Amino acid sequence: MLNNRTEFERVVYDEKFRPLITEKQVRERTAELGKQITEDYRGLHPILICVLNGGFIFMADLVRQIELDLEVDFIRISSYGDAMKSSGNVRLVKDVNAELKNRHVLLVEDIVDTGLSLQFLSEKMAEYDPASIKFVTLLWKKEKARVETHIDYVGFEIPDSFVVGYGLDHKQILRNLPAVYVMD
Ligand code: 5GP
Repeated sequence: MLNNRTEFERVVYDEKFRPLITEKQVRERTAELGKQITEDYRGLHPILICVLNGGFIFMADLVRQIELDLEVDFIRISSYGDAMKSSGNVRLVKDVNAELKNRHVLLVEDIVDTGLSLQFLSEKMAEYDPASIKFVTLLWKKEKARVETHIDYVGFEIPDSFVVGYGLDHKQILRNLPAVYVMD
């Protein structure tokens, strides 16, 4: 049960969360990314693939900032379970439906942590022989990378702490918080 201690701090399951990135900052950065993607993909009719579950809110906001004809699809992978540490064991839960051969594919992630999910996704996408594969993530724990990661568009680099909100969960809740919070 989520309750407001102060206007800014939230306590859930006895854990304290404080704001890290405000709604306004997310909105402004998403608009910048959308503009950049619009320029980079002009004339290309890309397909944006949302990585579920965490990516659903960022995806919804990002596509509305892209002024192009585009398609959307969804893929679901699992690596964390209910824990706060990446298990390193990434598995596919739901694949995309669209035919990706010769398509310009842009994967939309909520957060890149160890980079193992991104590596898994990049290998999976390569099997479909797309014309191009790029990645956009709202958040990047750069210092945490366990594998070499190339991310084409990054919203915010963040420290190595557990974050929630704006799609990201803690024990499957808190995804609906409109801003990004960090565990104290
Ligand atoms: P990676 O494979 O890069 O280690 O982890 C990627 C996935 O782990 C993300 O898509 C996300 O589901 C989860 N994850 C990584 N860091 C965090 C975090 O700080 N908070 C939450 N809620 N999930 C995270």
